[in-house]
Formats: sequence, C-alpha cells, structure tokens
Amino acid sequence: CGIVGAVSNRNIVPILLEGLKRLEYRGYDSCGVAVHQDGALRRARSTSRVAELETNIATDGVASGTGIAHTRWATHGAPAVHNAHPHFSAGANVDAMATGFGSLEADAASTTPVARIGLVHNGIIENHDELRAELRERGYVFTSQTDTEVIAHLVHSFYDGDLLDAVQRALPLLKGAYAIAVFARDEPHRVVGARQGSPLVLGVCPGENFLASDAMALAGVTDQIVYLEEGDVVDLQLGKVWITAADAQGRYLPVQRPVRTV
Ligand code: GLU
Repeated sequence: CGIVGAVSNRNIVPILLEGLKRLEYRGYDSCGVAVHQDGALRRARSTSRVAELETNIATDGVASGTGIAHTRWATHGAPAVHNAHPHFSAGANVDAMATGFGSLEADAASTTPVARIGLVHNGIIENHDELRAELRERGYVFTSQTDTEVIAHLVHSFYDGDLLDAVQRALPLLKGAYAIAVFARDEPHRVVGARQGSPLVLGVCPGENFLASDAMALAGVTDQIVYLEEGDVVDLQLGKVWITAADAQGRYLPVQRPVRTV
C-alpha cells in the first residue's frame, strides 16, 4: 500500500501514477487518484492494476497541478471500487448517491462538485466505529465500509477555509496508525500530510512539493527528501512547505527537519 501527493504548477498526474507504480512492490488490491480540476475534485478508482487506471485517466483527460493518489491494502471493507481511496467528504446532509458522489463508477474519472475534502490513508483507525456513529448523528453520509472515510468527514467537520487547521484539529481524535494526504476543493494549491505509525516522506523541489510513502516513489522527480517524524503535519503549497508538530500541550508549532539528498 502507498501514498503519493503533489502540489505544482505543472501537470502532476504522470508523477502520481509513476509514484504508485514504484510503490506496487508493497502490494495492493485497488488504487485511485484524485486531482483538483476546473474548481472541483475529480477522482478515478480501480480494482485493477495502476497501468489500467493510467489508461483510463489518459482517455478522460485528467490533468492538474494538485492531487493525491493511493494503493490500498484493504483492512476494513472489501477490496471494491467504493472502498478504494481517495475518499471524499461533501459534508453533512448531502445525499451522496443523488449527487453522483457515491457512485460506484469503476475506472472512469468522475467530477464531483459537491465534494469539498479528498483524502488517502495508509494504516488503521482503531476508533472508527465511535467516530462513524458520531459523524452519522451529525448527518454525514458514508459511502464505504472503510475506517478511512471517518477521517475525511472529520476533517470536513473542522474545515473552515484552512485545511492545515482542520487536519490539526482532527488528528487528536484519531486512535491508531496513519499516514494521510488530504486536499480541499476550496484551496486549489494545497495538500496537507500527516503521519503517526506509518511512513511518509516529503520531496522538495523549487516551486513544487511532493509527498510519498517512500523516497523511491519520487525518484526521477526529486532527490531532496525530508523523512517526516512521528506526529508531523506538513503543509504543501506552491513553492512553500511548512512542517508542524504538537508540543506537550497539544499546540502545533513549526519544526525543522533536515533535507537529505538520497
Ligand atoms: N485501513 C484502510 C482501508 O482499509 C487503509 C488500508 C491501507 O493502508 O491501504 O481502506
């Protein structure tokens, strides 16, 4: 399983797909990509190989400077398109099926204007049942059987125009292991990543920034790598990257991590 994310001025879809291929050795049962395109989140997911996802995406004209991608090794919910990542949240009381948001589209890329948050996750959220029950109470509609989807809705529930802030508020409520990459419809040049118990690295380049489960996934893109530490939350923007970690009181403060040439 693995994660890739990117914020750039150029089309990063080929970089996301190449990254997923380089992570294939870890094993997976499904894969998916979501990008920011024409003011909306656009997603394609598949239970076949990354190469097939790539063919379909090319046909559908998916292109963007901002996106996240995932290979899934199912732990909660069967290997199926509706359980594949990225997971989206459109917020409370939105009929996911009626808006096409929860459609079980295999392979073909679909644009879902109502989706505000998109997220990929490696790991296991142990308290997903409690969180799902609370979020359902508040009107959130679930379209998968995964533990992951609770994180997407939780981030949405804290989202008020600042993705970093929303992620920093959501993380303390999660029990378990995770590496995540999240983006928001209303912030077209931003991806936020975080890790706790699952690997995640940051790849830096002039004017663009990348996330991946390992440095190999970014070979050919950048050899400038930051190995994120447990609890780090990283804010990727165009030509700007910012790492934070919580202090003993749970306040997020900026931290410095060394950039290594790999
Ligand atoms: N627990 C999540 C799921 O089953 C993520 C699995 C993974 O690490 O790929 O969807």
